Amino acid sequence: APRWVAAMLTTVLGTSTGGGAATALGELDRQAGDGDFGTNLTSAFTRVQDEIAATSPQTFTAWLTAVSRGFLGTGGTSGPLFGMFFRDIARCATGDTPTLTELADGLAAAVATVQRYGKAQVGHKTMVDALVPAAQALSEQAAADADPVGALNVAAEAARAGALTTRDIVARRGRASYVGEVARGVLDPGAVAVALLIQCAAAAVG
Ligand code: ADP
Ligand code: MG
Ligand code: MG
Repeated sequence: APRWVAAMLTTVLGTSTGGGAATALGELDRQAGDGDFGTNLTSAFTRVQDEIAATSPQTFTAWLTAVSRGFLGTGGTSGPLFGMFFRDIARCATGDTPTLTELADGLAAAVATVQRYGKAQVGHKTMVDALVPAAQALSEQAAADADPVGALNVAAEAARAGALTTRDIVARRGRASYVGEVARGVLDPGAVAVALLIQCAAAAVG
C-alpha cells in the first residue's frame, strides 16, 4: 500500500505490538455518544484491507475507492459520511496522483457532500469542525502554489486546531446532541479522527 494508506491503517487499527487510535476514539464516543465509533472505525478499516486484497489498487483513485468502499459498508453515522467523503476524494485525480489543486478541490467537494447529507455546520461539534478548516487551508495553499508537503501539513494543523475547538462546546448534530451538557469537555471523536487521518496523509507524503 502507499505510505499514507499504510499510515492510516496503522494509526487506526494499531500493530501487533500496540493498539490503534480506534480504542481512544471509541472511548470519546462512550463519554458523549453511544460508544460504537471505535468499532465502526475498526470495522471500516478492516473492510478497507479486504477491498485492497480483493482489488489490488494501482492508482490514487483506486486506493481511495477501496477506502471509500470500506466505509460505505460500515454502520453508524460516520460510515456513510466517511464513505461519501472518500468517494469524492477518489474522484479528484485526473492522473495517477492528484495535483495539489485537484486535491484541494476534491477535499472541498467532499466536505460539501458531508455537509449536504449531515446538515452540520462548524460549531455543531462534528467531524465538520475539523473538515472545514482543513479544506479552507488546503485551498489557500493551492491558490498560493505552495509546496504540496507543506500544504498538507498546514491542512493537518488546521484540522487539529478545528478538532480541539469541539472540546468546550455542546453538540447540535449526532448522538452527542442527545446528552446536552454532558458532551461539554469531551472532544468529538469524528473530528479527532479527521485530524488524525489528514496528519497521516501529511506525514506519509513528507
Ligand atoms: P453514531 O452516532 O450513529 O453512532 P458514529 O459513532 O459512527 O455514529 O460516528 C459519530 C461521529 O459522527 C461523531 O463524532 C461526529 O463527528 C459524526 N457525526 C455525527 N452526526 C453528524 C452529522 N450530522 N454531520 C457530520 N458528522 C456527524
Ligand atoms: Mg456512535
Ligand atoms: Mg451508533
